[in-house]
Amino acid sequence: MEWLRKFLDGRYFRSDELSIALLSVTVILGISGLIAGIPMLYYLADVFFLVYIFRNYSRNIERRVAENAKFMEIFGPFFRKVAEPFKNVFNRVRDRKTHVYLKCPSCKQTLRLPKGKGKLKVTCPKCKTDFYKTT
Ligand SMILES: [Zn+2]
Repeated sequence: MEWLRKFLDGRYFRSDELSIALLSVTVILGISGLIAGIPMLYYLADVFFLVYIFRNYSRNIERRVAENAKFMEIFGPFFRKVAEPFKNVFNRVRDRKTHVYLKCPSCKQTLRLPKGKGKLKVTCPKCKTDFYKTT
């Protein structure tokens, strides 16, 4: 497996934001192409996928990092907005044993509390409303 280790050594392999975006676009174009029956869309999906593969196997780490920084400069706010709900779901699944999530009764802000601490007095960080919650 020495050749494989050598082959993979020093390659980029990072799930940076640009990679995630490229994969998402690939999937979205591919699926819409299939549903709409427009081959052009999945050819386009292939192009995005090739760029994704190229970046992952690239050894020019510096260049890839710079690319991602440039991408985030332009699409960062949009990307974070789109990614946020997914991140929240991911966090909830990850924290399900240690934390409970609830909404502030007054402003509906989502709050995260440690689990198994008994009755807690909660102060909403957004609207400063106090309420009690048993976790
Ligand atoms: Zn609140």
